[in-house]
Amino acid sequence: MEVNSRKWVLASHPQGMPTEDNWKLEEETLSIANDNEVLTRALYLSVDPYMRGAISPQKSYRKGVEVGELMVGGAVAEVIESSHPDWQAGDLLETQYGWREYAVLDPSSATRVTTDLGPIHAWLSYLGMPGITAWCAMKYVGQPKQGETVLISAASGAVGQVAGQVAKASGCRAVAVASSREKLDWCRQLGYDEGVNYRNSENLVEDIGNACPDGIDIYFDNTAGPIHDAAMKNLAMRARVIVVGTISLAGTFEQPDIGERFLREILTARAKVEGFLVFDYLEQYNKARQSLAELAASGQLTFQTDFMDGIESMPTAFLRLLHSSNFGKQMVRTRFAEPFAE
Ligand code: NAP
Repeated sequence: MEVNSRKWVLASHPQGMPTEDNWKLEEETLSIANDNEVLTRALYLSVDPYMRGAISPQKSYRKGVEVGELMVGGAVAEVIESSHPDWQAGDLLETQYGWREYAVLDPSSATRVTTDLGPIHAWLSYLGMPGITAWCAMKYVGQPKQGETVLISAASGAVGQVAGQVAKASGCRAVAVASSREKLDWCRQLGYDEGVNYRNSENLVEDIGNACPDGIDIYFDNTAGPIHDAAMKNLAMRARVIVVGTISLAGTFEQPDIGERFLREILTARAKVEGFLVFDYLEQYNKARQSLAELAASGQLTFQTDFMDGIESMPTAFLRLLHSSNFGKQMVRTRFAEPFAE
Protein backbone atom coordinates (compact mmCIF):
# COMPACT_ATOMS: atom_id res chain seq x y z
CA MET A 1 0.00 0.00 0.00
CA GLU A 2 1.23 3.51 -0.83
CA VAL A 3 -0.13 6.56 0.99
CA ASN A 4 0.22 10.28 0.40
CA SER A 5 0.91 12.01 3.69
CA ARG A 6 1.54 15.46 5.12
CA LYS A 7 4.11 16.35 7.76
CA TRP A 8 5.27 19.49 9.57
CA VAL A 9 8.97 20.27 9.41
CA LEU A 10 10.85 23.00 11.24
CA ALA A 11 11.28 26.01 8.95
CA SER A 12 13.36 28.12 11.34
CA HIS A 13 14.43 28.27 14.97
CA PRO A 14 12.29 30.82 16.82
CA GLN A 15 13.69 34.10 18.01
CA GLY A 16 11.87 34.58 21.29
CA MET A 17 8.24 33.41 21.31
CA PRO A 18 7.63 30.90 18.48
CA THR A 19 5.15 31.75 15.71
CA GLU A 20 3.38 29.66 13.07
CA ASP A 21 6.05 30.64 10.52
CA ASN A 22 8.55 28.47 12.36
CA TRP A 23 7.04 25.38 10.69
CA LYS A 24 6.03 24.40 7.15
CA LEU A 25 3.74 21.64 5.89
CA GLU A 26 5.26 19.22 3.37
CA GLU A 27 3.96 16.20 1.46
CA GLU A 28 5.49 12.75 1.18
CA THR A 29 4.62 9.29 -0.14
CA LEU A 30 5.10 6.34 2.19
CA SER A 31 5.01 2.54 2.00
CA ILE A 32 6.46 -0.40 3.92
CA ALA A 33 9.90 -1.26 2.54
CA ASN A 34 11.24 -3.84 5.03
CA ASP A 35 10.27 -6.71 7.33
CA ASN A 36 9.16 -5.87 10.89
CA GLU A 37 7.62 -2.53 10.00
CA VAL A 38 4.12 -1.11 10.37
CA LEU A 39 2.37 1.51 8.27
CA THR A 40 0.28 3.62 10.61
CA ARG A 41 -2.05 6.59 10.54
CA ALA A 42 -2.23 9.09 13.39
CA LEU A 43 -5.52 9.37 15.27
CA TYR A 44 -4.53 11.84 18.00
CA LEU A 45 -1.39 13.98 17.98
CA SER A 46 -0.02 15.51 21.14
CA VAL A 47 1.34 19.02 21.59
CA ASP A 48 3.40 19.58 24.71
CA PRO A 49 5.43 22.41 26.23
CA TYR A 50 8.73 20.46 25.90
CA MET A 51 8.46 21.18 22.16
CA ARG A 52 9.62 24.74 22.88
CA GLY A 53 12.94 23.33 24.04
CA ALA A 54 13.01 20.87 21.13
CA ILE A 55 12.99 23.67 18.53
CA SER A 56 15.68 25.67 20.27
CA PRO A 57 19.30 25.31 19.14
CA GLN A 58 20.24 25.52 22.83
CA LYS A 59 21.65 22.44 24.56
CA SER A 60 18.96 20.50 26.39
CA TYR A 61 18.36 17.03 27.80
CA ARG A 62 18.02 15.61 24.28
CA LYS A 63 18.92 16.53 20.73
CA GLY A 64 16.75 19.26 19.24
CA VAL A 65 15.00 19.41 15.86
CA GLU A 66 17.13 20.86 13.04
CA VAL A 67 15.69 23.15 10.37
CA GLY A 68 14.15 20.93 7.65
CA GLU A 69 13.60 17.99 10.04
CA LEU A 70 10.25 16.47 11.01
CA MET A 71 8.78 18.14 14.12
CA VAL A 72 8.79 15.80 17.14
CA GLY A 73 5.70 14.77 19.08
CA GLY A 74 3.83 11.81 20.49
CA ALA A 75 0.71 10.26 18.97
CA VAL A 76 -1.81 7.48 19.25
CA ALA A 77 -1.89 5.78 15.85
CA GLU A 78 -3.58 2.86 14.12
CA VAL A 79 -1.73 0.17 12.19
CA ILE A 80 -3.12 -0.07 8.64
CA GLU A 81 -0.59 -2.52 7.20
CA SER A 82 2.10 -4.66 8.81
CA SER A 83 5.17 -6.68 7.89
CA HIS A 84 5.74 -7.40 11.59
CA PRO A 85 4.59 -10.77 12.98
CA ASP A 86 3.24 -9.25 16.26
CA TRP A 87 1.26 -6.38 14.75
CA GLN A 88 -1.84 -6.42 12.55
CA ALA A 89 -4.03 -3.87 10.83
CA GLY A 90 -6.36 -2.35 13.43
CA ASP A 91 -3.85 -2.53 16.31
CA LEU A 92 -3.31 0.73 18.18
CA LEU A 93 -0.05 2.13 19.50
CA GLU A 94 1.35 5.16 21.27
CA THR A 95 4.79 6.34 20.34
CA GLN A 96 7.09 9.23 19.48
CA TYR A 97 5.57 9.90 16.07
CA GLY A 98 6.21 13.41 14.81
CA TRP A 99 3.73 15.95 13.48
CA ARG A 100 2.52 13.84 10.52
CA GLU A 101 -0.51 12.00 9.22
CA TYR A 102 1.09 8.65 8.41
CA ALA A 103 4.32 6.95 9.42
CA VAL A 104 6.19 3.74 8.68
CA LEU A 105 7.61 2.62 12.01
CA ASP A 106 9.60 -0.09 13.72
CA PRO A 107 7.02 -0.78 16.46
CA SER A 108 9.52 -2.28 18.92
CA SER A 109 9.68 0.91 21.01
CA ALA A 110 5.94 1.68 20.78
CA THR A 111 3.43 1.11 23.59
CA ARG A 112 0.45 -1.05 22.69
CA VAL A 113 -2.76 0.91 23.34
CA THR A 114 -5.71 -0.97 24.78
CA THR A 115 -9.24 0.33 25.18
CA ASP A 116 -9.86 -1.07 28.67
CA LEU A 117 -8.20 1.68 30.75
CA GLY A 118 -9.92 4.72 29.24
CA PRO A 119 -10.49 6.45 25.90
CA ILE A 120 -7.58 5.93 23.52
CA HIS A 121 -6.65 9.64 23.44
CA ALA A 122 -6.10 9.40 27.22
CA TRP A 123 -2.84 7.59 26.38
CA LEU A 124 -1.57 11.07 25.48
CA SER A 125 -2.99 12.69 28.62
CA TYR A 126 -3.81 11.21 32.00
CA LEU A 127 -2.75 7.65 31.03
CA GLY A 128 0.25 8.96 29.09
CA MET A 129 3.25 11.21 29.50
CA PRO A 130 1.56 14.14 31.31
CA GLY A 131 -0.33 11.93 33.76
CA ILE A 132 2.71 9.78 34.44
CA THR A 133 4.75 12.95 34.99
CA ALA A 134 2.27 14.18 37.59
CA TRP A 135 2.06 10.81 39.33
CA CYS A 136 5.81 10.06 39.44
CA ALA A 137 6.87 13.61 40.33
CA MET A 138 4.34 13.76 43.14
CA LYS A 139 4.92 10.25 44.50
CA TYR A 140 8.70 9.88 44.15
CA VAL A 141 9.94 13.46 44.53
CA GLY A 142 7.16 15.23 46.40
CA GLN A 143 6.43 12.25 48.69
CA PRO A 144 3.19 13.78 49.97
CA LYS A 145 2.07 13.20 53.54
CA GLN A 146 -1.42 13.47 54.97
CA GLY A 147 -2.35 17.08 55.76
CA GLU A 148 0.49 18.72 53.82
CA THR A 149 -0.05 21.73 51.55
CA VAL A 150 0.77 21.28 47.87
CA LEU A 151 0.96 24.28 45.53
CA ILE A 152 0.71 23.53 41.79
CA SER A 153 1.26 26.01 38.96
CA ALA A 154 -0.43 25.59 35.53
CA ALA A 155 -2.89 23.70 37.73
CA SER A 156 -5.66 23.30 35.14
CA GLY A 157 -3.32 21.91 32.47
CA ALA A 158 -2.51 18.36 31.44
CA VAL A 159 0.00 17.72 34.23
CA GLY A 160 -1.56 20.10 36.77
CA GLN A 161 -5.01 18.51 36.71
CA VAL A 162 -3.56 15.12 37.58
CA ALA A 163 -1.02 16.47 40.09
CA GLY A 164 -3.79 18.18 42.08
CA GLN A 165 -5.94 15.08 42.17
CA VAL A 166 -3.01 12.84 43.14
CA ALA A 167 -2.26 15.31 45.97
CA LYS A 168 -5.89 15.12 47.12
CA ALA A 169 -5.91 11.32 46.92
CA SER A 170 -2.78 11.42 49.15
CA GLY A 171 -4.67 13.38 51.81
CA CYS A 172 -3.08 16.76 51.08
CA ARG A 173 -4.50 20.24 50.77
CA ALA A 174 -4.10 21.26 47.12
CA VAL A 175 -3.74 24.89 46.01
CA ALA A 176 -4.02 25.79 42.33
CA VAL A 177 -2.31 28.62 40.48
CA ALA A 178 -3.79 29.47 37.07
CA SER A 179 -4.47 32.41 34.76
CA SER A 180 -8.27 32.76 34.86
CA ARG A 181 -11.37 32.37 36.99
CA GLU A 182 -12.74 29.71 34.63
CA LYS A 183 -9.60 27.63 35.05
CA LEU A 184 -9.64 28.04 38.84
CA ASP A 185 -13.33 27.10 38.94
CA TRP A 186 -12.46 23.94 37.04
CA CYS A 187 -9.67 23.21 39.54
CA ARG A 188 -12.20 23.52 42.36
CA GLN A 189 -14.40 20.98 40.61
CA LEU A 190 -11.42 18.65 40.48
CA GLY A 191 -11.05 18.94 44.25
CA TYR A 192 -8.44 21.69 44.65
CA ASP A 193 -9.11 23.46 47.97
CA GLU A 194 -7.96 26.94 46.98
CA GLY A 195 -6.91 28.89 43.93
CA VAL A 196 -4.73 31.88 43.10
CA ASN A 197 -5.08 33.82 39.86
CA TYR A 198 -1.52 34.89 39.06
CA ARG A 199 -2.61 37.20 36.26
CA ASN A 200 -4.75 39.55 38.33
CA SER A 201 -2.85 39.26 41.60
CA GLU A 202 -1.38 42.53 42.81
CA ASN A 203 0.84 40.79 45.32
CA LEU A 204 1.50 37.17 44.41
CA VAL A 205 3.69 36.48 47.46
CA GLU A 206 0.88 37.61 49.73
CA ASP A 207 -1.89 35.86 47.80
CA ILE A 208 -0.01 32.56 47.79
CA GLY A 209 0.79 33.10 51.47
CA ASN A 210 -2.90 33.61 52.25
CA ALA A 211 -3.84 30.49 50.29
CA CYS A 212 -1.12 28.50 52.10
CA PRO A 213 -1.24 29.84 55.69
CA ASP A 214 0.95 27.03 57.07
CA GLY A 215 3.45 27.38 54.21
CA ILE A 216 4.02 25.22 51.15
CA ASP A 217 5.21 21.68 51.86
CA ILE A 218 5.39 20.68 48.18
CA TYR A 219 5.68 23.15 45.33
CA PHE A 220 4.97 21.39 42.03
CA ASP A 221 6.54 23.94 39.70
CA ASN A 222 5.22 23.70 36.15
CA THR A 223 6.12 27.23 35.11
CA ALA A 224 9.20 28.86 36.71
CA GLY A 225 9.08 32.68 36.52
CA PRO A 226 7.16 34.96 38.93
CA ILE A 227 4.99 32.13 40.32
CA HIS A 228 8.15 30.26 41.30
CA ASP A 229 9.55 33.41 42.93
CA ALA A 230 6.41 33.93 44.99
CA ALA A 231 6.24 30.27 46.01
CA MET A 232 9.86 30.28 47.20
CA LYS A 233 8.97 33.00 49.71
CA ASN A 234 6.26 30.83 51.25
CA LEU A 235 8.06 27.55 51.89
CA ALA A 236 7.27 25.49 54.99
CA MET A 237 10.00 23.66 56.89
CA ARG A 238 11.41 20.71 54.92
CA ALA A 239 9.59 21.82 51.78
CA ARG A 240 10.13 19.94 48.53
CA VAL A 241 10.29 22.00 45.33
CA ILE A 242 9.81 19.85 42.22
CA VAL A 243 11.08 21.62 39.11
CA VAL A 244 8.87 20.02 36.46
CA GLY A 245 8.56 22.71 33.78
CA THR A 246 9.61 26.22 32.82
CA ILE A 247 6.88 27.26 30.39
CA SER A 248 6.92 30.90 31.50
CA LEU A 249 10.36 31.14 29.87
CA ALA A 250 8.99 30.22 26.40
CA GLY A 251 9.47 33.74 25.03
CA THR A 252 12.96 34.18 26.49
CA PHE A 253 14.17 30.62 26.14
CA GLU A 254 17.56 31.40 24.66
CA GLN A 255 18.38 34.06 27.28
CA PRO A 256 19.65 33.56 30.83
CA ASP A 257 16.85 33.37 33.39
CA ILE A 258 17.91 36.24 35.61
CA GLY A 259 15.94 36.94 38.77
CA GLU A 260 16.04 36.77 42.52
CA ARG A 261 18.08 34.15 44.35
CA PHE A 262 16.50 31.97 47.03
CA LEU A 263 19.38 30.30 48.81
CA ARG A 264 18.45 31.90 52.15
CA GLU A 265 14.87 30.59 51.83
CA ILE A 266 16.13 27.12 50.88
CA LEU A 267 18.60 27.14 53.76
CA THR A 268 16.24 28.39 56.46
CA ALA A 269 13.44 26.01 55.39
CA ARG A 270 15.95 23.13 54.89
CA ALA A 271 14.14 22.73 51.60
CA LYS A 272 14.99 20.36 48.77
CA VAL A 273 14.85 21.53 45.14
CA GLU A 274 14.87 18.70 42.60
CA GLY A 275 14.64 18.69 38.83
CA PHE A 276 12.29 16.07 37.38
CA LEU A 277 12.30 14.33 33.99
CA VAL A 278 9.65 11.71 33.32
CA PHE A 279 11.99 9.63 31.11
CA ASP A 280 14.00 8.77 34.23
CA TYR A 281 10.98 6.80 35.47
CA LEU A 282 10.39 4.46 32.49
CA GLU A 283 10.25 1.44 34.78
CA GLN A 284 7.39 3.02 36.73
CA TYR A 285 5.21 3.83 33.69
CA ASN A 286 2.98 0.75 33.90
CA LYS A 287 2.49 1.11 37.64
CA ALA A 288 1.67 4.81 37.25
CA ARG A 289 -0.73 4.16 34.36
CA GLN A 290 -2.52 1.43 36.29
CA SER A 291 -2.87 3.63 39.36
CA LEU A 292 -4.18 6.54 37.28
CA ALA A 293 -6.71 4.28 35.55
CA GLU A 294 -7.89 3.07 38.97
CA LEU A 295 -8.23 6.63 40.26
CA ALA A 296 -10.28 7.50 37.17
CA ALA A 297 -12.46 4.39 37.53
CA SER A 298 -13.13 5.20 41.19
CA GLY A 299 -14.16 8.78 40.38
CA GLN A 300 -11.08 10.34 42.01
CA LEU A 301 -9.61 11.51 38.71
CA THR A 302 -11.52 13.70 36.30
CA PHE A 303 -9.85 15.14 33.24
CA GLN A 304 -10.45 17.80 30.62
CA THR A 305 -9.08 17.59 27.07
CA ASP A 306 -8.90 20.46 24.60
CA PHE A 307 -9.19 19.15 21.02
CA MET A 308 -8.33 20.88 17.78
CA ASP A 309 -9.02 19.18 14.48
CA GLY A 310 -6.80 18.32 11.53
CA ILE A 311 -3.08 18.07 10.92
CA GLU A 312 -3.17 21.67 9.62
CA SER A 313 -3.76 22.94 13.15
CA MET A 314 -0.59 21.54 14.78
CA PRO A 315 1.36 24.83 15.11
CA THR A 316 -1.75 26.71 16.31
CA ALA A 317 -2.48 24.00 18.87
CA PHE A 318 1.08 24.09 20.16
CA LEU A 319 1.17 27.89 20.41
CA ARG A 320 -2.04 27.85 22.47
CA LEU A 321 -0.01 26.26 25.29
CA LEU A 322 2.46 29.12 25.35
CA HIS A 323 -0.32 31.75 25.45
CA SER A 324 -2.45 30.09 28.18
CA SER A 325 -5.23 29.55 25.59
CA ASN A 326 -5.62 25.81 26.14
CA PHE A 327 -8.13 24.52 28.67
CA GLY A 328 -6.94 21.08 29.71
CA LYS A 329 -4.72 18.75 27.72
CA GLN A 330 -4.22 20.18 24.23
CA MET A 331 -4.19 17.69 21.39
CA VAL A 332 -5.08 17.43 17.72
CA ARG A 333 -7.61 14.94 16.43
CA THR A 334 -6.99 13.82 12.85
CA ARG A 335 -9.59 12.96 10.22
CA PHE A 336 -9.02 9.25 11.03
CA ALA A 337 -10.11 9.54 14.68
CA GLU A 338 -13.86 9.65 14.07
CA PRO A 339 -14.66 5.94 14.63
CA PHE A 340 -13.02 6.04 18.07
CA ALA A 341 -15.48 7.23 20.69
CA GLU A 342 -14.47 9.97 23.09
P1 NAP B 1 -0.48 22.59 30.15
O1 NAP B 1 -0.38 22.95 31.59
O2 NAP B 1 -1.62 21.78 29.69
O3 NAP B 1 -0.43 23.89 29.26
C1 NAP B 1 0.50 24.88 29.47
C2 NAP B 1 -0.01 25.88 30.52
O4 NAP B 1 1.08 26.66 30.98
C3 NAP B 1 -0.98 26.91 29.96
O5 NAP B 1 -2.29 26.45 29.87
C4 NAP B 1 -0.84 28.04 30.97
O6 NAP B 1 -1.74 27.86 32.06
C5 NAP B 1 0.59 27.86 31.51
N1 NAP B 1 1.41 28.99 31.08
C6 NAP B 1 1.70 29.38 29.81
N2 NAP B 1 2.46 30.49 29.84
C7 NAP B 1 2.64 30.80 31.15
C8 NAP B 1 3.33 31.84 31.82
N3 NAP B 1 4.01 32.78 31.17
N4 NAP B 1 3.29 31.86 33.18
C9 NAP B 1 2.63 30.91 33.87
N5 NAP B 1 1.95 29.91 33.29
C10 NAP B 1 1.96 29.84 31.94
O7 NAP B 1 0.88 21.85 29.77
P2 NAP B 1 1.40 20.49 30.37
O8 NAP B 1 1.63 19.54 29.27
O9 NAP B 1 0.54 20.10 31.50
O10 NAP B 1 2.82 20.91 30.95
C11 NAP B 1 2.92 21.68 32.15
C12 NAP B 1 4.39 21.84 32.50
O11 NAP B 1 4.93 20.56 32.78
C13 NAP B 1 5.23 22.41 31.37
O12 NAP B 1 6.16 23.33 31.86
C14 NAP B 1 5.93 21.21 30.80
O13 NAP B 1 7.15 21.52 30.19
C15 NAP B 1 6.12 20.38 32.05
N6 NAP B 1 6.30 18.95 31.82
C16 NAP B 1 7.45 18.42 32.29
C17 NAP B 1 7.69 17.08 32.14
C18 NAP B 1 8.95 16.52 32.72
O14 NAP B 1 9.24 15.33 32.57
N7 NAP B 1 9.74 17.34 33.36
C19 NAP B 1 6.77 16.26 31.47
C20 NAP B 1 5.57 16.85 31.02
C21 NAP B 1 5.36 18.21 31.19
P3 NAP B 1 -2.39 29.15 32.75
O15 NAP B 1 -3.63 29.43 31.95
O16 NAP B 1 -2.62 28.78 34.14
O17 NAP B 1 -1.39 30.27 32.56
